[in-house]
Amino acid sequence: MRIREMARADEKKLKFSELIADPAVRERWEKVRRYFYLRESTYDMTNRCNIRCDGCYYYEGEKQFAAENHDPDAWRRLMREEKARGITFVVLAGAEPSLVPEICRVCFEEMPLGCIATNGFRQIPGDIGYKIHISVWGNDSTSLRIRNAKNLLQKQIGNYGGDARAVFVYTFTRGNIGEAYEVTESLAAHRCMITFNTFSAPVGYQGILRHTEESLRKTRQVMTELLQKFPETVLFSPYNAVAHTHRLGLHDLFSCSYPRMNPSTEIGLGRSFRQYRADLTWDRDVACCVPDTDCADCRHYAAGSAVVTARLYRHVKDHDAFRSWLDYVDTYLAVWVMGYGKGKNLCAHMAAPPEHDLV
Ligand code: SF4
Ligand code: SF4
Repeated sequence: MRIREMARADEKKLKFSELIADPAVRERWEKVRRYFYLRESTYDMTNRCNIRCDGCYYYEGEKQFAAENHDPDAWRRLMREEKARGITFVVLAGAEPSLVPEICRVCFEEMPLGCIATNGFRQIPGDIGYKIHISVWGNDSTSLRIRNAKNLLQKQIGNYGGDARAVFVYTFTRGNIGEAYEVTESLAAHRCMITFNTFSAPVGYQGILRHTEESLRKTRQVMTELLQKFPETVLFSPYNAVAHTHRLGLHDLFSCSYPRMNPSTEIGLGRSFRQYRADLTWDRDVACCVPDTDCADCRHYAAGSAVVTARLYRHVKDHDAFRSWLDYVDTYLAVWVMGYGKGKNLCAHMAAPPEHDLV
């Protein structure tokens, strides 16, 4: 969906053939490049949600006011048109897709690769074979406080424990960093997979969830510990931790390629990506995977999966950078694509993003 730049390492000091000389690296490169054909767009399935969270970007901006389209034929037509313009991967998202399973099914029938972002309160029928990302914002007492949802983790595990589609996405906020230990332990005990997200403030949000440099530093430390302690449960890499807890956001580190920040209509996401609202309209000026998020604070896992993976060319300058990039892409595919299995990380330590410091 996201990887556009071609390997031009021969223009740098290292030849690309040198970068992939190690058989493990070459094998990983061959594994991930089979997915370079993926092209994503995202779709708001409803304007309703069955819970209400502090710091939700869906209920910022205009998109929340779009009327829902409940016509399965209209969605089928849209999916066919999307396929015709080259889209191969759909992300069904905000507000809450599990409220319209029949529309999700129509999308799946037309576009077999994709992912659903849900709060996990309701089970999505098993015949809808997309990846399912279940949002977790802390332990159950924090969820009750921040999301107004009782026993949420318990319900999420009840709905998705052992489900091969499911990846639990733990969003680190300023206030829940330490809770990630108990949540990961509990998910591991129920055969659930988990990946990590970093809270990225909606435009204008100055509330208690917003990160500081200190909370980002602690978040990185906990992410790293959990990755080491639960390697079979945690889908992540040291470079993911660096990219998502750096004092600079993703745009400053890597240049965001979504239309909202990228004026190019010729190549990459700037050309192909659309963010459809619940009424099936879209607006290029605000289109990205996390609309109405503050770009300067954007460290969102969904954004990184496009923005970091698209920057292959910047990561071919040395072995550590290239291996770290491969680990990032391998993680992204394991989190987003059904049937893709994560390999062992190739770079065990943290590498700095190209042209930047480590923190
Ligand atoms: S579950 Fe998601 S869409 Fe619903 S209020 Fe919370 S953050 Fe927003
Ligand atoms: S919020 Fe993130 S993904 Fe969206 S345009 Fe800004 S930097 Fe890019």
